[in-house]
Amino acid sequence: MLKVNEIFYSIQGESSYAGLPCVFVRLTYCNLRCTYCDTAYAFYEGEEMSIDGIINEVAKYDCKLVEVTGGEPLVQKGSLNLMKELCDRGYETLLETSGSLSIKDVDKRVHIVMDLKTPSSGMVKKNLFENVNYLKTNDEIKFVIGDRNDYEWSLETIEKLELSNRKILFAVVYGKLKPATLVEWILKDKLNVRFQLQMHKYIWDPERRGV
Ligand code: SF4
Repeated sequence: MLKVNEIFYSIQGESSYAGLPCVFVRLTYCNLRCTYCDTAYAFYEGEEMSIDGIINEVAKYDCKLVEVTGGEPLVQKGSLNLMKELCDRGYETLLETSGSLSIKDVDKRVHIVMDLKTPSSGMVKKNLFENVNYLKTNDEIKFVIGDRNDYEWSLETIEKLELSNRKILFAVVYGKLKPATLVEWILKDKLNVRFQLQMHKYIWDPERRGV
């Protein structure tokens, strides 16, 4: 059984899959408390569901792209089986994870989008940097940037961990750093990174759940 906060169908707002229709399975619980968290309602709220129950719910949307997210999905060990089952049943499965828990046992068919937490999140000490060794070529690493210090930390981390040939996403902390400012920095430094906006926050009210 897994505690599930919500299952919904929306537009993928982030990563290289941004813009595609996607079913989201938001699992309850998170081991972190980022300063900018916009899904604190997932820390405890939810209902217990079996993996079959979750997949039956997902199937109702008739969409083959599914993201397992949170909270932090990997807090619940059953999330590993859920992702495996989704892959077995032919779903293109994405995992959105904070990078603070091991991704070693995640099914290799899963496309991972992993954060490395920047200083302004308040969670930088929780980064499990060894996770980088388990990322596959196509997986993505996301830096959520709230200020210039975060930006410089991100550049140093990319260099230190030799991530420059990885798929890197740079995003702003919504409402804290202007998207145009981050874009200017990226262009000035000629970075080989993908800038992203949390698309769903611009389509709907940024406070709205289930989008
Ligand atoms: S990891 Fe994600 S869900 Fe957890 S506190 Fe940080 S932003 Fe919120």
